[in-house]
Amino acid sequence: MEIHIELATKSKMFCGCKNDPFNAKNPNIYTCPVCLAMPGGLPVPNRQAIEWTIKLGLALGCTIPLFSKFDRKHYFYPDLPKGYQISQFDQPFCKDGIVRVPEGDVRIQRVHLEEDTGKLQHAVVDGKKVTLVDFNRSGVPLVEIVTEPDIRSGDQAKAFLKKLHQIIKYLAISGADMEKGSMRLEPNISVCKGAFDGVLPSYKVEVKNINSFNFVKKAIDYEVSRHIDILETGELPKQETRGYDAANSATISQRSKETAEDYRYFPDPDIPPIRFTKDQIETIKQTLPELPDDKRIRFSQSFGLKDSDIDLIIDRQEHADYFEKCIDVINSTPAFDRVTPYMVAKALINSRGVVRVSETEFVQAISDKLTDLTIDPLILVEACRKITEEHHDAVESYHKGKESVIMFLIGQVKKELKGKGDAEKIKEELLMQLT
Ligand SMILES: [Zn+2]
Repeated sequence: MEIHIELATKSKMFCGCKNDPFNAKNPNIYTCPVCLAMPGGLPVPNRQAIEWTIKLGLALGCTIPLFSKFDRKHYFYPDLPKGYQISQFDQPFCKDGIVRVPEGDVRIQRVHLEEDTGKLQHAVVDGKKVTLVDFNRSGVPLVEIVTEPDIRSGDQAKAFLKKLHQIIKYLAISGADMEKGSMRLEPNISVCKGAFDGVLPSYKVEVKNINSFNFVKKAIDYEVSRHIDILETGELPKQETRGYDAANSATISQRSKETAEDYRYFPDPDIPPIRFTKDQIETIKQTLPELPDDKRIRFSQSFGLKDSDIDLIIDRQEHADYFEKCIDVINSTPAFDRVTPYMVAKALINSRGVVRVSETEFVQAISDKLTDLTIDPLILVEACRKITEEHHDAVESYHKGKESVIMFLIGQVKKELKGKGDAEKIKEELLMQLT
């Protein structure tokens, strides 16, 4: 799998232009001689982008070599004004990491930094079909993550990508928004017969421009069965690039890629190699937030929650933070001493992450409900009796088999109790009285 992520730095990778292509009001407004490749323009690397790349590498368990450099990757395409892309070839900033997922760990081969290209737009101007180029995106810092061939299924790919996305969001280094193209996914797929012994098949198919984790899963599943069909006829699937067609849940051939392209990589002579000290790497490491895996362990130990509940709470850092602030409120307010972390977790999960009140108000609401639960059982029994007497028709249709009437009766009891009372307890009592 190859994953590209645009970093959310203020400025571009090698010049001072604003890095905000998605919100630019007009094409080519965030450009300068450097990102337009005018003669004499000299690139200066963005320090923040390099630090964030290393931060990401550390979060993925990578080794950070103390020496690195930028290289030129040559190819000709109109969205690449220099005729080459500044990238990293043999000395990436980070290598040899791992992402742990229940479906199977995925090793990270490398994490390197490069610059994004411009964007082509096909249009009709004065009745003529033309292709326009917008360089607002040209030179935006772009991280590429390359995995080892450890992914065996569409499900594993999806789980891995979700985890990776979560880590990137925790680090707050990219919007990682697939709709806006700030996170782009490219699975490379091939099938071999029998157990995989480390030797990759002699072909691979790359599926480009997939913009959701679900589509990645579907594209992989589709490709695997397509390859198996071809392999079983004794043929070898064609080495090519394909696109994903979401409407038909299928992939379509785009261009064949018979031989590996020769990019004529060489070190960029405009950018001196970069050396780090161990202290510098350590300083970046200190800026890492608590990552999802560590948070899961701590939440399990401190709050005694189930893993499936924890996963929902720590899905996003802001949800996890909100949960912890609620716990602080409980611990510092004696009036809330009956509210448990479990109750907060359940209430948060039920709200599906859409909470617009302060932590104190949130805990207060749970505490109020607790009072509901402890309503005098005799009052509850009495209210149920009163309601079943008042609503003969409803009781009758219940006995005739219309079980949904119970919801109506619960509502009436709730009304009688002025909104108090636990719906489950009321239901229990009503059912008892109706039989
Ligand atoms: Zn520029």
